[in-house]
Amino acid sequence: MRFIADMMLGRLARWLRLYGYDTLYGVKDDDEIVSVALREDRIILTRDSGLAEKSKKLGADVILISSNSLEEQVRELKNLGIEFRELFPPNARCPKCNGLIRPVPKEEVRGKVPPKVYELYDEFYICQDCGQIYWPGRQWEEMLKMDKKLRDEK
Ligand SMILES: [Zn+2]
Repeated sequence: MRFIADMMLGRLARWLRLYGYDTLYGVKDDDEIVSVALREDRIILTRDSGLAEKSKKLGADVILISSNSLEEQVRELKNLGIEFRELFPPNARCPKCNGLIRPVPKEEVRGKVPPKVYELYDEFYICQDCGQIYWPGRQWEEMLKMDKKLRDEK
């Protein structure tokens, strides 16, 4: 299951990536969103009922998201049977660029992360596309907290 999210759903797009869903984000033009969706067999996520109508007419799969909050948006997707399983490795995609993330040996990130981080952590991951490095730091903990919240939603 792959997605393309409209410009109003940036936060949801980043979270879908963290849960391993191939999710495009950043296409501004509605017609372009529809044509990419059709070409790449992606489900359109949008908050715009006009775009949703248009997508359906043109034969694209579309999910019209009604809520403004991330938690509610995740709930809407869950209600449609979209699963939110394991956050972050091994299946996650880069929240910045949608690239695949793989574990890297600590030595490989020497000099690429702040020295203090290098000292404190042993677990590192890198995005194969944009090179962003991830480690279980404060931001990661915040993500896990959010993850727990999202999973507890029934
Ligand atoms: Zn990336």
